[in-house]
Amino acid sequence: MTEQNVPLLQVENLTKSYPAEEGGFFAGLLGGSGERIPALNGISFTLNEGETLGLIGESGSGKSALARIIAGQEKPDKGKVFFRGKQITGMGDSEIKSLSPHLRYLPEDALTGLTNDPKNRVDRLLFDLAEKYPPQGGGSVRDAGMRLLKRVGLNEDYLTRFPNQLSGGERQRLALARALLLRPRLIVADEPVSNLDLTTRTSMLNLMKQIGREAKIAFIFISHDPSMVRFFAGEGRIAILFAGRLMEELPAREVFNLATHPYTKTLLEVNSAPSPLPGGALDPEMAFTEMERVDANALPLETLESELSADGNIAASAQLAAANRQGCPFFRWCPERFERCPEVTPQLLTVTKRLEAGQYLPLPPEEIEPTHRAACLRYIDQ
Ligand code: SF4
Repeated sequence: MTEQNVPLLQVENLTKSYPAEEGGFFAGLLGGSGERIPALNGISFTLNEGETLGLIGESGSGKSALARIIAGQEKPDKGKVFFRGKQITGMGDSEIKSLSPHLRYLPEDALTGLTNDPKNRVDRLLFDLAEKYPPQGGGSVRDAGMRLLKRVGLNEDYLTRFPNQLSGGERQRLALARALLLRPRLIVADEPVSNLDLTTRTSMLNLMKQIGREAKIAFIFISHDPSMVRFFAGEGRIAILFAGRLMEELPAREVFNLATHPYTKTLLEVNSAPSPLPGGALDPEMAFTEMERVDANALPLETLESELSADGNIAASAQLAAANRQGCPFFRWCPERFERCPEVTPQLLTVTKRLEAGQYLPLPPEEIEPTHRAACLRYIDQ
């Protein structure tokens, strides 16, 4: 908590959808819901100063929509985001800009697309920013820039290069140095190392962790890879996103022991990138293509869902399920489903039961971990 006892970040009941392509298959199917594709559905959580939340989500789970809304780059349809007690959602562009030094977004390749324009040379990218946000406690702008460049493992030889002359790892290091110049309190890192080879990835993760600890920066670290999220989140928390909903939230150190939700268990069992689910999850663009193909045959919704499911297109099918009806979005693939699952939408609540010898038994009160929540009717009191 901050001095005023206000969480650093408070996310309340976020809902986001995107317009379905006009005349496309989703548009036809979702006519009753305003022809929009659901991306997020009722996401809530809080984060305190210096805390790390690792977010595991496959392609199509809504993770990047969530990251962009938290970073103030998109507006939700419903719900609120508070940063240090101030509501970001509903702020105008200039107000968001005034917050942006403290709340940084670090996407997969933050510096991609920058050209050889002299203003994009590494020295300019660094020193112009340092001039705008002068170092605290004096010192020259150049010294501040150089200190951070060295801190992220680059030296002055890089100053005269352009981002497109750097490797993926070097670009992410430079992006991190630029973010740090602004003295952020929260960095939202969306698949920040996915493009990097294994060695570079590991050293970048270690660097971010170390700098986060030293400067007490809170992180939301987003990835499709459970092991990577577990590694980065350390003593923090992990949340699992599926079909725009949080399925489970638990202490990171316990993720492999305590995981309870059938979707989380499926992810961890296979635990391999890019997707442990059959066929891989679809991104929305691929979902359109699939649905247009089915649309040509004018198949009813039920047939479409089962076809998508049989093809292993879990994300697209789950999106449809979440958009069209109540019930658990993981119902179609769940090995633990029962008769209530298609009727009742599970809430994210404290886990109060465990599976033992084929039975769902109440946990003894002393074993109930208040920070372990799941959205599964088998394991909660709902
Ligand atoms: S609510 Fe039912 S379908 Fe959903 S994860 Fe739990 S058991 Fe499976």
